[in-house]
Amino acid sequence: MPLRLYNTMSAKVEEFHPLRNNEVRMYACGPTVYDYGHIGNFRTFIAVDMLQRFLKQSGYKLRYVMNITDLDDKIIRNAARDGVSVQQYTAKYQKGFLEDSAMIGIETPRLVRATEHIPQMAAFVAKLVEKDVAYRTDDGSYYFRIASFPRYGKLSKKDFSEMRRGARVDVDEYDKDSARDFALWKAPKPGEASWDTSIGPGRPGWHLECSVMSMQELGESFDLHAGGEDLVFPHHENEIAQSESLTGKTFARSWFHVRFLLVEGEKMSKSLGNFYTLRDLVLKGHKPSSIRYLLTSVPYRTQLNFTFDGLKQAAVSVERLRNFRQRLTVGDFPAGSNPEMQRLASETIDRMRAALEDDLNAAQAQGAIFELVRKANSALDAGEVKKEDTRPMLQALEKFDEIFAVLEDDDGPKMKQVLEWASTEGRGQDISPELRDAVKSGELSDADIETKIAEMEAARQGRSFKVSDALRAELTGAGIVIENTKDGVRWRRK
Ligand code: AMP
Ligand code: ZN
Repeated sequence: MPLRLYNTMSAKVEEFHPLRNNEVRMYACGPTVYDYGHIGNFRTFIAVDMLQRFLKQSGYKLRYVMNITDLDDKIIRNAARDGVSVQQYTAKYQKGFLEDSAMIGIETPRLVRATEHIPQMAAFVAKLVEKDVAYRTDDGSYYFRIASFPRYGKLSKKDFSEMRRGARVDVDEYDKDSARDFALWKAPKPGEASWDTSIGPGRPGWHLECSVMSMQELGESFDLHAGGEDLVFPHHENEIAQSESLTGKTFARSWFHVRFLLVEGEKMSKSLGNFYTLRDLVLKGHKPSSIRYLLTSVPYRTQLNFTFDGLKQAAVSVERLRNFRQRLTVGDFPAGSNPEMQRLASETIDRMRAALEDDLNAAQAQGAIFELVRKANSALDAGEVKKEDTRPMLQALEKFDEIFAVLEDDDGPKMKQVLEWASTEGRGQDISPELRDAVKSGELSDADIETKIAEMEAARQGRSFKVSDALRAELTGAGIVIENTKDGVRWRRK
């Protein structure tokens, strides 16, 4: 089956086929780097990451570009407030975004920055003026004339027939239903960053940035344009108006929008005290893999309600998957193969693929892998898994992880980085005891833990209970959970 994706433009789930052979050209609106990213931002970035991972898994060659908005109203304002240049102001948050993306398993796209494309943006405005779809105002700003683009509103399905001709707006973000001519280029203001260009001094508007960078990287028409649902209007509507007015061609063929995330049932906001950056959650002691798992677990067009209970559940799910893989890797199995297990593995791969092809139904794909885990664990307990069954089951896990990316146990070092960052940023008071424990446990390698457990067992058998108790206490203190089972001592990290 081909991939089916919802396209905001047609308001339908459609078969996805790229314009050029086997190559997908895709652009995602990236972060505005005026602060650290919050979990809502990362819901969107992770959904787009899953989409690009699945396109690759499906055999497409991918040209995937994301912008970093390092120039917009908020950045200009904050840089001016702090008396630093725009580049100085954003450097810290750009670094933060790259670190956070790596921490949460996002594969790095080709990144482009607004500040590196200013002359191209000025040239774009000049061409729009030539076509008489943009005009200059007395102060040296430029606006797009939306009355010149009758299909304005086609993405957001807003009806602008009543719009007031010539009414203008110069802020980057606005949510008024009445459309207005929007600023392509803003004249310099005292104390604010500005560039000297072919159309005069000033700076680009946010909407222009994405049109220029996406077309420069991917061509006048490309396959997919992605972002959070809040970007449909005005940002993407304005991108379409500018780009299509210039080229006369369809700008992006398919529009992929991710539904907003709620926190404990409410809109996330600083005033409600339910606003979390990724780093805030790690400081509380949550693992990056649990956060990623939770953010991948709801299909991108369904409302995701982020809760701390859900986060704990996600941690358990990741642990189960990792333990299952461990069991398959280290176990000793009788020779031969069990046709039932072979069938289970290949059916799971098919079911995951079918789920993801159905508009990226991540929840169903997770359901399929957990059915495999449940059935295979029972078969393992009953001694029904044979040597040749482990390979197809590990393959199913691998296919799953190519998209979900939670199996590698690298939470320890990542959490340590956040702990160190907090200490140097003056946020030491926000480091929870849980994070300290997790970092301590992460510092012990699996081999160190195995050795200590062997020593503990040897001491116990030699009746040196003081020694065995001390070793157990040391491991527990480092966040290692030790269980005595009929098959001997088992351990896991908390
Ligand atoms: P920004 O850094 O504000 O430019 O946003 C970066 C991306 O995060 C955009 O695609 C936004 O649409 C998206 N976004 C912002 N808030 C949320 C949220 N609560 N849930 C999902 N996506 C969001
Ligand atoms: Zn954009």
